[in-house]
Amino acid sequence: MTNPQVIVIGAGPTGLMLAAELGLAGVRAVVVERLLQRSGQSKALGIQPRSAEVLELRGLLEPLMDQAVQLVPGGHFAGLRLDFTTWDTRHPYMIGIPQGRVEALLEERLAALGVPVLRGYEVTALAQDDDGVEATVHGPDGETRLRGRYLVGCDGGRSTVRELLGIDFSGLDGRLLSVVADITLDDPDGAVSATWSLPVMTPDRTGKGYLAPIGDGVHRFLFYGAEQQTLSRDTPISEAEVGRALHHTVGPGVELTGIHWASRFTDASRQVERYRHGRVLLAGDAAHIHSPMGGQGLNLGLQDAFNLGWKLAAEVHGWAHPGLLDTYHAERHPVAARVLANTRAQAVLLVHDEENLALRDIVSDLLGVPEANRIVAGMISGLDIRYDLPGPSHPLLGRHLPDLDLETPDGSDRVARLLRDGRALLLTSVAPAAFAEVVAPWGTRVHHVSVTAGLGADAVLVRPDGYVGWAAAVGVTGDMAALGAASRLWAGMTTSRPRNDHQPTS
Ligand SMILES: Cc1cc2nc3c(=O)[nH]c(=O)nc-3n(C[C@H](O)[C@H](O)[C@H](O)COP(=O)(O)OP(=O)(O)OC[C@H]3O[C@@H](n4cnc5c(N)ncnc54)[C@H](O)[C@@H]3O)c2cc1C
Repeated sequence: MTNPQVIVIGAGPTGLMLAAELGLAGVRAVVVERLLQRSGQSKALGIQPRSAEVLELRGLLEPLMDQAVQLVPGGHFAGLRLDFTTWDTRHPYMIGIPQGRVEALLEERLAALGVPVLRGYEVTALAQDDDGVEATVHGPDGETRLRGRYLVGCDGGRSTVRELLGIDFSGLDGRLLSVVADITLDDPDGAVSATWSLPVMTPDRTGKGYLAPIGDGVHRFLFYGAEQQTLSRDTPISEAEVGRALHHTVGPGVELTGIHWASRFTDASRQVERYRHGRVLLAGDAAHIHSPMGGQGLNLGLQDAFNLGWKLAAEVHGWAHPGLLDTYHAERHPVAARVLANTRAQAVLLVHDEENLALRDIVSDLLGVPEANRIVAGMISGLDIRYDLPGPSHPLLGRHLPDLDLETPDGSDRVARLLRDGRALLLTSVAPAAFAEVVAPWGTRVHHVSVTAGLGADAVLVRPDGYVGWAAAVGVTGDMAALGAASRLWAGMTTSRPRNDHQPTS
């Protein structure tokens, strides 16, 4: 491909989602992936409610639901149940779906958008200047150089991009060594549950694990017993080790017949200090890793990408507000930092000793209190995210706008459908002409819809990622100057900036 504007390294869920957002916004993007084909290994199995909403904003949820193994009401915190129904969402459940299927779906979207995925190409060197980034990639035909205006490292926890830039990835080393394996088994008496479920996790290191069917006759088996703690991360995983753990978990009547893949992982948690290094940005596991507890990593990556895509597109198209791209770090770094913290807290609740068991009992009781359960459910599901955005205070500012049913002069509609094309959205339930006049300079970049019922506010400016950038309460005359400022920040400058006036920050 010639002259990509953005080079995305890594075709995991983060890189694919980012490339889809860039493609939707008309950016020439390319994804560089070192694997010739998808590995067939699915680390993640669950889509959280906020990710489901995000996918729905681009029409990706319906095809994903068609591929789901199962929907499970609620989520979990260290194996303790969370109720998502207390949040205003159409999707108060975990969608059980192997990561590989999510990736396949996103890759189909890329094909439809004409965004190429270069498979079998590995990035080995990077150089950036004031104008762009050059990546050296090794592929089937040897070494090639790709140049783009920006490059995003979505290349996972052992990110080459991060290493090439010498970016520190410090944090806490893992204390618990676990094994994940996708296995087939012989279960003549039906001892193993036939339905996918949320993990039943208890503070137990006797070798008991989590076992659940994930479709196509395959079972996900996760275990972290005493034996695993004596081994190193590089120790090969043998059938004998998996078989022993299986017997501990479900008894001798169930036999292991095959291992599709298996891997050891730890609960190490690390995060880069800055997500942007000049014209190179980091997203997903390349920027943060943590224990899979609660099922949040893939979801974080998808939402990093969703936050970054439209901002990067605005930058490439030359109309971004000078501070827009840096809001990616400002908004997403604290979200991941909080996930690192909550996974560490979950790890404490899973270690088997008397103090921790006492603490777990108390947390368990607290989660029985609806308001406490709601707080933790909001955190794990991603539904409680509130970005610290400038502008007049309003309960909706910085939060995602729920997928409201709206009445418009053209008939019934929903917020999710109105955001499908990736543009900013101005919804007004009063004085549409006055609001239309204020946002007129942004032309088609702001999609203005007059609402006759269902909004619950006088006017709301929604960013392309569904978060509210400005809102006026019912009965309060909209602060038009503030709407203008918010439009400038989120929908861009109304005259194009010259190509190089925004220098990299480092
Ligand atoms: C056991 C386990 C269970 C999990 N369960 C869940 C869960 O239920 N829910 C959840 O949300 N998360 C879960 N996670 C976490 C989730 O799998 C990760 O957070 C997710 O894969 C991160 O996606 P990513 O795209 O950022 O990185 P990755 O998926 O790691 O993708 C990175 C891609 O970059 C490519 N790459 C690497 N280096 C280069 C290079 N030099 N050049 C070109 N390409 C390169 C790789 O081949 C890879 O395809 C789990 C993780 C584990 C280990």
